[in-house]
Amino acid sequence: MKKYTAVIIGGGPSGHSAAVRIAQLGGRVALVERDYIGGICTNWGCTPSKAMIESAKIAREVKDSYKYGVDVSDFQINFARVAARRNEVVVQTREAITDLLLHHKIDLFQGEAQMVAPGKVRVLKGKLNHEGETMDYSGGEELLETEHIIIATGSKPLIPGFVDRNDPSIVSSNRLITIEERPEKLTIVGGGVIGLEFATIFSNLGSQVTVVEFLDRVLAGMDEDISAKITELMEANGVRILTSHKVLSVKDGVLTAENQKTGEEVKVECSMTLIAIGRLAVVHEESYDALGIEYTRHGVNVNDFQQTNVPGIWAIGDATGKSILAHVGIQQGIVAAENIMVIYSLPEIVGVGTVPENLDGVQVVKVPFTANLRAGIEDFTDGFLKLWIKDDRVVAAQAIGHGVSEIMQELANMIALKSDIHDVAEIIHAHPTYAEIIRSALEYSLGKAVDFYI
Ligand code: FAD
Repeated sequence: MKKYTAVIIGGGPSGHSAAVRIAQLGGRVALVERDYIGGICTNWGCTPSKAMIESAKIAREVKDSYKYGVDVSDFQINFARVAARRNEVVVQTREAITDLLLHHKIDLFQGEAQMVAPGKVRVLKGKLNHEGETMDYSGGEELLETEHIIIATGSKPLIPGFVDRNDPSIVSSNRLITIEERPEKLTIVGGGVIGLEFATIFSNLGSQVTVVEFLDRVLAGMDEDISAKITELMEANGVRILTSHKVLSVKDGVLTAENQKTGEEVKVECSMTLIAIGRLAVVHEESYDALGIEYTRHGVNVNDFQQTNVPGIWAIGDATGKSILAHVGIQQGIVAAENIMVIYSLPEIVGVGTVPENLDGVQVVKVPFTANLRAGIEDFTDGFLKLWIKDDRVVAAQAIGHGVSEIMQELANMIALKSDIHDVAEIIHAHPTYAEIIRSALEYSLGKAVDFYI
């Protein structure tokens, strides 16, 4: 029997990145995937959602085109074309990843992997049936021997008790992201990252969207100013946002929620309801128990090197429950992770680093995009950059604004490299660019902003 250096369970971003890196280092790798190569990210997450956000962005630009002197008096959303383009992008991405894995001579197995012992993985060959989420084991089985096993089994949507699983109008993100027809009235339970991305997509593509959030603000993990700004901008774009509302039921196209502050019951009509209250790691309890692998309902316990408590068994990505983000999983498949979070709303939101709980000795700087010439020219001045600076080092940064996901890498690098703000504030930033706002903010923190005042 062929012995592998590593058998990787799961072909999502963390699994396929780890597979490529081990192969590059000379290891023999097998990757087992029961569904599509690319995992949630390629097939139901990052790729299709960003493909649809691109359509939403174009729709918004066309709608706002009069501002730029271009009159498009009448336009329509062709949702079938939006869906077809999204599907094409997914297939292309999936094929590119498969090609990459084969290029690195990684053996691909289609089926469900079961760890039978450290160093032994059984593959029940077959494919996941999406209708009933059951496996069709039609291809027999094979036992793989390996020095290391890497658990990269990902995560799945968290579905609360009030949901009637037989109601086809109540969906998880996996279903909504593959939809071929636009829901007229979409209600989203959960105002987190995934909820707001779907609100962005469907509101700009013509659905009437309501977001129902239990907490007193959306994006509760971000700074309060960011939550307030995105609420203001989304409401201005027609999205109804109900915060401090607890969902009691969804039945016959009506969602009933209770206002936590007044006790009043609110009813929202919905042709479709998305449940986006979070994701949970896929946990294979039976084999973890049999092998003595420590885990919680949030995922497999790992140390800083991604090792489980059982020698030779590792876990990466969403399966560890540490962060439900593809780039964290990719990074875990390679080295340690730096914290960065992007929300692809319109405008985008980004957070890097960790906001200190204790603000003693921390300077907080907030610079609006009205201070940025490029944003002014392009009429994207809504938004701001906020920095938390300690001992002349940026420790955290959050921004809301047009295309901020493209400029925040500089701040992520500064945080990771512990760069002195004096040094970076002196570096030329091309003019006029959005990235100049970083230099402006650093200069402002040093009391020497030359391009604006507050
Ligand atoms: P997954 O991608 O979940 O892959 C795990 C794979 O393991 C699956 O394909 C599964 O079939 C397979 N598997 C599980 N058990 C077995 C088994 N026993 N045998 C064989 N195969 C098995 N992250 C970002 O960074 N940026 C974004 O813009 C972004 N957008 C998102 C949008 C949405 C709507 C969603 C839902 C998620 C988004 N994410 C985003 C998160 C991202 O998709 C996940 O963090 C990422 O997919 C996790 O990668 P992973 O490799 O850990 O697991």
